Amino acid sequence: MKTLKNLPDLTGKKVIVRVDFNVPLDDDGNVRNDKRIRHALPTIKHLMDAGVSQIILMSHVGRPKNNEEKLKTDKIAAKLSELLGEDVVKVDDWGQSGLPEAKVVMLENLRFHPAEKSKDEAERDAFGKQLASLADYYVNEAFSNSHREHASMTSVCKFISGVVGLGVEKEVSAIKKVLENPEHPVIAIIGGLKVDKLTAINNLLNIADDILVAGALAFTLLKAKGKNMGSSKIDDEGLEEMGDLVDKIKDNPKVHLPVDIVVADDFSEEANSKDVSVDGVEDGWMGLDIGPETVGHYVAKLKEAKTILWFGPVGVFEMEKFSHGTKMLGRTIAESDAVSIVGGGDSASAIDKMGLSDQITLVSTGGGASLKMIEGKELPAIKILE
Ligand code: AMP
Repeated sequence: MKTLKNLPDLTGKKVIVRVDFNVPLDDDGNVRNDKRIRHALPTIKHLMDAGVSQIILMSHVGRPKNNEEKLKTDKIAAKLSELLGEDVVKVDDWGQSGLPEAKVVMLENLRFHPAEKSKDEAERDAFGKQLASLADYYVNEAFSNSHREHASMTSVCKFISGVVGLGVEKEVSAIKKVLENPEHPVIAIIGGLKVDKLTAINNLLNIADDILVAGALAFTLLKAKGKNMGSSKIDDEGLEEMGDLVDKIKDNPKVHLPVDIVVADDFSEEANSKDVSVDGVEDGWMGLDIGPETVGHYVAKLKEAKTILWFGPVGVFEMEKFSHGTKMLGRTIAESDAVSIVGGGDSASAIDKMGLSDQITLVSTGGGASLKMIEGKELPAIKILE
């Protein structure tokens, strides 16, 4: 992986940087959380210190349908300017008029151009070539988007030399290290809703010593083992699609499933709830968290770990009443001396909400991208920079 260190003398050069400024916005397009903007600051500052003549920043924001005003990058550029202490000039249309002579410029939302996400590689490359014509070098500082073959991710670097930014370097190296040469025991917690995480579990069977499965995903596996899961959320469609993997995983001795569950009579904070054994789920009740015995068992496993991977909350943590399991495991990981990687938007926001982010080795910025790596797959936007 080529990094900023591999770039030659940058004095007077122009560098185009793909960042992920897809930040949460309010109805007026104001930035509600600037974490993703702050994440790119070290790379931007590094380039400025290296004497570049211009930094051109580009990002997608949301999923525009008809170039909505709200999804323009103006307010994001203003927020960056505030954080960086430097003017950031937002440009609407660089195609016609070229770029103004400013140190830092921010392009309009990349997804306003249909070619950014086009399925046609030639179309993406044509757009990538246009973007590349603005600069001498390309930097990918958008790990969270690196599993996607979009023009700004995999085309620009076909026309000018490209490297990864500091954030991507740190994130990819940390995950690679865990996958290639982890300190054992390696304990993985896989929770959440969707059965697509089974692919990750399958690859983790080669790496992890124990895999603690939770969330609705665990109930899907328990159902596959013939248990009654009442009205728990079961991904039946996924179950059918992933049938072979389900069979391989559900009885594997490395794979741990809950022994008790917190069930509720409604998907709400006001629901009646109780702890039951996995054999005692009645019709009309749904599992929304792991039970105390399972929490105890999982916490004990985590305490032995030298490496911890966590993808997906173990219950519906957004509701206080069903957040106990997620909180207990989150705290145990934070207190542990193990190398810990937390990935996935929901687990990351659970850790953030608990104020524990600083005690985790790496809170991944990209759930989809880090999960792809855990599945043992390559990220196209990183591979192309090797
Ligand atoms: P995922 O996108 O697959 O990581 O799923 C994350 C979501 O799974 C979160 O919003 C959780 O609230 C939800 N979740 C976790 N456990 C359960 C459960 N037992 N029933 C329903 N949803 C759950």
